[in-house]
Amino acid sequence: MKIKIHRGTHQIGGCVTEYESNGWHLFVDYGEELQGGPRSGALKVEGLTHGDLSKSALLITHYHGDHIGCIAELPEELPIYMSEIGCELQSVLSNRLKTVDNTHQKILERLQKAKTFKPGVEFSFGPFKIMPIIVDHSAFEACAFKIVADDVKAFHTGDFRTHGFRSGTLPKVIKKFVGEVDYVVCEGTNVRRPDATSVSEPELQRQFEAKFRENKNNIVYLSSSNIDRLFGLYHAARKAGRPFYVDAYQKRMMDVVTKRDHIWGKSRLYRYDDKFEPLVLQYEDDEDKVEEKGCVLIARANPLFDKFIERIPGESHKYLSMWKGYVEESCEAYNLRLAKSLGKDFEYMHTSGHCDMGSMREFFNLLHPKAIIPIHTDNPEAFAELFCDEWPITLLNDGESISVISDDHAKCHVSILCVTPPYALDEKILGGFKYCEDANFMLAHTKYCSPLLIGYAVEEESVWPVHAEVFDAEKKLLATYESGEHHPGGKRFQEPCPFAKGEKVLAVFHAGYDVVVPATVIGPLSVDLVRESYEQDEYLNDVYSSFEDYLKEWNDWDWDEVAVHPLEKVTSPFEVIGTMGETEFVPRIYLFPYREVK
Ligand SMILES: [Zn+2]
Ligand SMILES: [Zn+2]
Repeated sequence: MKIKIHRGTHQIGGCVTEYESNGWHLFVDYGEELQGGPRSGALKVEGLTHGDLSKSALLITHYHGDHIGCIAELPEELPIYMSEIGCELQSVLSNRLKTVDNTHQKILERLQKAKTFKPGVEFSFGPFKIMPIIVDHSAFEACAFKIVADDVKAFHTGDFRTHGFRSGTLPKVIKKFVGEVDYVVCEGTNVRRPDATSVSEPELQRQFEAKFRENKNNIVYLSSSNIDRLFGLYHAARKAGRPFYVDAYQKRMMDVVTKRDHIWGKSRLYRYDDKFEPLVLQYEDDEDKVEEKGCVLIARANPLFDKFIERIPGESHKYLSMWKGYVEESCEAYNLRLAKSLGKDFEYMHTSGHCDMGSMREFFNLLHPKAIIPIHTDNPEAFAELFCDEWPITLLNDGESISVISDDHAKCHVSILCVTPPYALDEKILGGFKYCEDANFMLAHTKYCSPLLIGYAVEEESVWPVHAEVFDAEKKLLATYESGEHHPGGKRFQEPCPFAKGEKVLAVFHAGYDVVVPATVIGPLSVDLVRESYEQDEYLNDVYSSFEDYLKEWNDWDWDEVAVHPLEKVTSPFEVIGTMGETEFVPRIYLFPYREVK
């Protein structure tokens, strides 16, 4: 499977990801680039914007403009998949906006033909198995996808958070529908915004409730599609005893969620109290009704609302419950209309729709990936810096891809060699690859800084390595192995090792031990050294009739060993191997610079 990030490796809006397998292309999201952020411009992608589309499809994670906003530009024959209610909410939104923006007419037409899926129900496209799951976000029914092809499991998070009303179920949902995966393509919006998530959605609702009790007339500006916030405000108003007013469009959006014969309709959060239905604002004479009990009014920045709000008797309290960049003149996303309606005197009450970095770590522990690719972030390096102590982070540029295949079918592997103190070798596979160039690309683009890291090995193998390159923890090439000519008399016999005689190293013993021990280098393997060890080994003496007979078993890989003197003698779990002696043999390429490991 190839995972290619067409856009979004270094920006928040407009991420486009492609999963490719056997000539089939599964794209995820096709939205707008954010105003004020870096912009890479229109995309030209074979199999998506042009070319043969017969094996292509597009998945939409959720209805935010930066994920869906550009679908009208895509060829009509491209199938688009979206969650049922997400699609319906976007249709209500586009239906309202189509008169002012023709793009929405086109989006509407595309969505009428969209194929909808249900979260938790797996579906297929070509060789891909796709499991959509619900994640909590400021868009309703936002989805993450587990995408499986070629026995490789990827998890595409989309936008998500863990501090919303419904976030508590995420670990359970991951366990039930996703399990562990190989790679995670993860959003990293809040990597440099630690304050954005300081309040949880339930806490924000409680704060609003307190404000609504305290203040009679409450005017809240928020995104009309932030359904969870809306229902949070509705319940806050209900508890505070303030009538809850919305306009007809906003009521339609809420009704999409409540009226369904669907799991959402059963949730207390998305249910209206019979005695407390949201009131649809009749601009003409409602200000008199407001007079008595006050109100919570979900307002939109337009003159109709402005005039109504002016007519409400008494003082009105205004709240901004969306990203404050919209009303900061220095921001490119500055919205003059909103700033005007809101005025100078308002309270900012908001929490992010994106995950905080502390929770992200717990989330990775559930998925246990081989590597994580950050997207939807303006600082992938900071993301890598944060998590590379525990997880390999693969940093790509727009247009770059990794090509991975299942370990079982791989011809080449990248291993990450770590030590679990005191001596246990902890070898992780970063990936299996068809070609060594793919393996080297992945290694070069992956940042990993575990304090237990020893180094890396890129090995092409059948039974024994055919070609191998070994790197230290800083990815500096230490040694190369090329199969052939390592026998006595061969031109690679006693090939130089990167460490001098007597030098202290960390020696990695695989088979028989799986340990990393400090050792000093004795020197290249010689026939005499092999004879010496044979003569001292009772087991070998029993098994082979003569030393010559024993030597027949020695292959090229065995002959490329060096003798070392282990500074700690480790006992093998296999009885016949026993405890390390004064002299041990270890593959020449598995020696690493010495350092203390704690
Ligand atoms: Zn979003
Ligand atoms: Zn987004």
